[in-house]
Amino acid sequence: MGKCLYCQKSAGIFKKLHKECEEKYLNGRELIKIKSNSFFDKSEVVEIVELENIADNSFIPYNEFEEIMENTFTDNLLNFLDDGTLDDKEEDVLGEYMEHFKLTQEQLNKNDSLGKMVRASILRKLLNGEPSSNRLNIDGNLPFKFQKSEELIWLFQNVELYEQRIKTTYEGSSNGISLRIAKGVYYRTSSFRGHPVKTTNIVPIASGMVALTNKHIYFSSGIKNFRINYVKIITLEPYSDGIGITKDGVTAKPQVFKNVDGWFCYNFIKNISE
Ligand SMILES: [Zn+2]
Repeated sequence: MGKCLYCQKSAGIFKKLHKECEEKYLNGRELIKIKSNSFFDKSEVVEIVELENIADNSFIPYNEFEEIMENTFTDNLLNFLDDGTLDDKEEDVLGEYMEHFKLTQEQLNKNDSLGKMVRASILRKLLNGEPSSNRLNIDGNLPFKFQKSEELIWLFQNVELYEQRIKTTYEGSSNGISLRIAKGVYYRTSSFRGHPVKTTNIVPIASGMVALTNKHIYFSSGIKNFRINYVKIITLEPYSDGIGITKDGVTAKPQVFKNVDGWFCYNFIKNISE
């Protein structure tokens, strides 16, 4: 006798679920998605309790419920970003969504959604020439030694560093997009979608942490530590999940940082080094 995946009651011989339970579950997910989104399209006013009840009655585990709530946040953030930068009002609406449904930073950042929003806000301020306030809360010590006037802007962990071994085989972006353009230009998130780092012609070197400050990009790992001054960068290769950097100098090899937000790094470095 198998137990139903959803209601945990007997599902009958050779069966893993009740069709009705599965339907309830799928409808519940859809309903939470629509109702949470009604905060943005203003079609209905819904409270968090109502959504939690739907989850309870539809066999939706709490972590899945949180994920749906975060996805609604991300979908709307990406919508806002489709027409350019995240403006003040749009950022406020996202903050109100978080408040209205009493969602914590942790709940909204399981898939880096809140991080993406904060980075979008950092980019807007940079492009508008507004001063950036430090919005990172760091637990513990960082392995970087910043200069006195240097300000930490963002930190990426679990970054993989790759290098091009033989410079002559490197011919810029081999992945279909080339955004090598003048400084002071902002590229939308859509330009970066679907262009992940290809690791075929590059060699893994180390895995560690990347810090972006107002002056340098830093890399730190057990075996390799360095920083690159933005003004020394001659080419930037954008990827959806990374950034490729070649700095000035005859022996400089292109370096690729994988597992960073390519859209943010590209736009940030292009515009900070103005
Ligand atoms: Zn069942």
